[in-house]
Amino acid sequence: MPYGYTGNILHVDLSSKKHWVEHPPENFYRTYWGGRALALYYMLNQMKPYTDPLSPDNLLIFAPGVLTGTPAPAMPRYTVCAKSPLTGAQGEAEAGGWWGPELKKAGFDAIIIKGASTSPIYLWITDGKVEIKDAIHIWGKDTGTSQKIIREELADDKIRVAQIGPAGENLVRFANIVNELKHFNGRNGLGAVMGSKKLKAIAVRGTKPTEFYNKKKIKEITKEIIKRIMDNPLSRNLREFGTVAGIASIYKAGWLPNNNWSTNNFKKGENLTAETYNKTILKGTEGCYACPIRCKRVAEINEPDLKVDPSYGGPEYEAVVALGSLCGISDLKYIAKANELCNKYTMDTISTGMVIAFAMQCYEKGILTKEDTGGLELNFGNKEVILKVIEKITHREGLGDLLSQGSYLAAQKIDKGSETFIHQVKRQEIPMHDPRVKTGVGLQYALSDYGADHMKAAHDASFKNKESWGVKEMKGLGILEPVSPIDIGQNKVTLFKILDIYWSLLDTLGVCDFGYVPRSVGTLDELLEIIRATTGWKPTWFELMKLGERSINMARIFNHREGFTSKDDTLPEVFYHNFKGGPLDGQGAINKEDFQKAVRLRYRMMGWNPDTGIPTPAKLIELSLDWLVKEVR
Ligand code: SF4
Repeated sequence: MPYGYTGNILHVDLSSKKHWVEHPPENFYRTYWGGRALALYYMLNQMKPYTDPLSPDNLLIFAPGVLTGTPAPAMPRYTVCAKSPLTGAQGEAEAGGWWGPELKKAGFDAIIIKGASTSPIYLWITDGKVEIKDAIHIWGKDTGTSQKIIREELADDKIRVAQIGPAGENLVRFANIVNELKHFNGRNGLGAVMGSKKLKAIAVRGTKPTEFYNKKKIKEITKEIIKRIMDNPLSRNLREFGTVAGIASIYKAGWLPNNNWSTNNFKKGENLTAETYNKTILKGTEGCYACPIRCKRVAEINEPDLKVDPSYGGPEYEAVVALGSLCGISDLKYIAKANELCNKYTMDTISTGMVIAFAMQCYEKGILTKEDTGGLELNFGNKEVILKVIEKITHREGLGDLLSQGSYLAAQKIDKGSETFIHQVKRQEIPMHDPRVKTGVGLQYALSDYGADHMKAAHDASFKNKESWGVKEMKGLGILEPVSPIDIGQNKVTLFKILDIYWSLLDTLGVCDFGYVPRSVGTLDELLEIIRATTGWKPTWFELMKLGERSINMARIFNHREGFTSKDDTLPEVFYHNFKGGPLDGQGAINKEDFQKAVRLRYRMMGWNPDTGIPTPAKLIELSLDWLVKEVR
């Protein structure tokens, strides 16, 4: 068995209540490594095309990477994959926290779940033992209550619990999965897949540390990185202000998303800044397993009529904007409450904010009436109403039932021109980043196989001039010159190609993007050394980048099998128009033809058919994916 692995992959069939353990050979691990690549291997091998995402035939895969659980900074992550009930495409989301490292200590490199239970259950996995336990008594309960009950009944408060709340149980199409109440596999509705299997939780506890090839070396490198984490402004900023650090400058620059992307004229951005956050609602910071960056916010409010429980963390950038300015709301306390509700019910805050903002715009335009909303006044800026709508979505009551399907399906049902107010790619609502000021993010939105996403590649600002951290620190991957954030020519496509493959690699290894270049201070050399010291293998960056590329191609084939085409690699129309209001008023529109050319160029750079965007047989063979050639012939 290679170092860094347990050598055990757990298979669970919830229909038959059987489980078994597979022990793959070393070359399997050396080809797929873990995380998204390993998960995609099983998705492509064991799931038929056109499987209903909410049927027992969908797979649900939990896969840490080989680095998950090393003592080096920012290596806590694991992937969850399934066919997404929101997009109908490859579904994937990574989470940090503590659950991934604990699964490995409990004896498994991944869990492949199929089938569905007829009544609620949870999995209890400890030191190689697997039990399927009754969960009727916790079904319907919020995540804080369920976690407490599971830990009490198993008599161990160190058990790590990955679970769903009522939104997942009720099959909300953007329900997510949480561990430790505040670390999310956030997007693509994977919580609904868990709900469809009546799987409330996976509780794990292990006492057997993973064996690393050279632990002393990992510790030496860790010491060096930690010194820099404490000093360097990049990681210091993340620790002091978290992901909300950029809100003040985004607001001043004029691209803070506002009123469902209809204007850029939000007047109260000062109320949402990191400084305001730290002064008003911040209780403290938290981190993930072995990570000293501690970028996570914890919010607490203790007012007679408004309480926010710090157990559920605090809103990050995406939540502050999606549940805030996007809905015309500038009261951080209400945003923190909305975030707490999403977290304890397990709903993706981006999609939640986006479906509510969509409904608000429909209401203001007279497309939805008070009769449709059950009497709710759904105007932008109504901070009380957003809390009520979150409850309704969670429990699928009235308007909430419609919105629980995501904005794309909701607009189809409402009709009356409402589809002009949805902003999505492959049916997933866009995150809170504007491609008009960072075109590389536009390429991510269009080309992500799991629908619009902002975590597919590093963002443009890290490469904007010669002093940028990405340009200084990523020459080893061929990034020698800066590229303007608003460029959409060949240099941007080249940069995007490298960054996309690099982040795909990080998601395969279990590494948090905030720990290493270009977002933080861990270097490429240090990352390579940690990989070698963990596994005992001697990979080069050539092998590692091929690994990142391999899973991008596997995801592409998965979607090809599901009927997705190059027509689905789009950008929402709003970004082909100028900003409205604010400092950028009347400028910024992305040229549609230039953008489409960039998408085609990326196909060619990847070795895909330039018209269809489908990987060619030659590319698949080059990536040791010859078993997938039959899918493209
Ligand atoms: S940088 Fe933040 S999100 Fe990433 S591992 Fe560290 S604490 Fe977790």
